[in-house]
Amino acid sequence: MESVQQPLTSPLLDLFLEMCAIASPSGSERAVADRVEAYLSGLGLEWDEDDAAVRLDGDTGNIYCRVPATNGGRGTPIFLCAHTDTVPPEAPIEPVVEDGVVRNVAGTILGSDNKAAVAVMLEATRRILEEDRPHAGLELVFTPQEEVSLRGAAEFDNTRLVAHTGFVYDQGAPIGEIVLGSPHGRLLDFRFHGRAAHAGMNPEDGRSAIAAAARAIADFRVGRIDDETSASVGVISGGTARNVVPEWCEFVGEVRSHDESKANDLVREMLETAAFAASLSECELESEVRPSFPGYRFRESDEPVRLAATALRSAGFEPSYALSGGGADANVFNARGLECVNLANGMMDIHTPDEHIAVADLEAMVEVTLALVDAARGS
Ligand SMILES: [Zn+2]
Repeated sequence: MESVQQPLTSPLLDLFLEMCAIASPSGSERAVADRVEAYLSGLGLEWDEDDAAVRLDGDTGNIYCRVPATNGGRGTPIFLCAHTDTVPPEAPIEPVVEDGVVRNVAGTILGSDNKAAVAVMLEATRRILEEDRPHAGLELVFTPQEEVSLRGAAEFDNTRLVAHTGFVYDQGAPIGEIVLGSPHGRLLDFRFHGRAAHAGMNPEDGRSAIAAAARAIADFRVGRIDDETSASVGVISGGTARNVVPEWCEFVGEVRSHDESKANDLVREMLETAAFAASLSECELESEVRPSFPGYRFRESDEPVRLAATALRSAGFEPSYALSGGGADANVFNARGLECVNLANGMMDIHTPDEHIAVADLEAMVEVTLALVDAARGS
């Protein structure tokens, strides 16, 4: 019996593979943004790019595109947002398709976070135009520098949006999961100041900033603190030479909690712990705490969440609800009074060399997007 070959490519898969192969670490998204803009122009759509590149010391701004409503103002206009940057790839990205799954050949990320969303949103827009699908208004926003504390979205002038309801596809989980909440984040910087001395000749004159910092970190509660709170120390540096008692040691950490008062309490505890460790080692301590992204919380009964659930069901997925441990551009929009829901899109093991996504999930998210547009129209 002759086997029937499934087509190995589709316009969506080709676009996705092409975009993944273009490295676009935060601040250097130009080539991907150019591709997005060419695609939009190819669809006959008007778009513009703001000047966030200058303000963020990068090479790319926010791309904004509006597809005017066909529906005479009825229904709920929606916006879709995806980010053009990735975490830094550590090797060239060579995406391959194996057994219906896209992954990178070796050694670094694939970049489905968030090019899966970029490609899907572009393809869905193409389908809407090609099929003359009626809709209540669709806007697209493509942001740079999401992976570095949502900086691109923060620079976007959201008053340009006609829609107050939006969606990002930026949750690495099976399709169907709707993110109801994202934690409140705090960024902590610590700088221990000791005293340098020769480590062999006169160590008693030295005050080791590294020893003080190590004591502080050892006494911190890090990892998963409870079911809605986490903490971490991510980078440490200090010292100048093997035989010098280190004068300086710096480290940076973070706290996240879905309960803002828990985040504040844990930050206070870490500051006190670090101050105590510094005093035991006769070191001085400078510390700084900054808010990262503001968190948010939806209810299942909220309109944008119900819209997403309706769309998922009509595309054949049973909705489930989850809290995310991370931030996404949705946090920025929600902090500004818009309602933006983050939907899982099937990308897996993001930010690792094992990152992958099924071709079927790329195609399915196009169907989810079309169903969202239909649901928002109120059909
Ligand atoms: Zn992402």
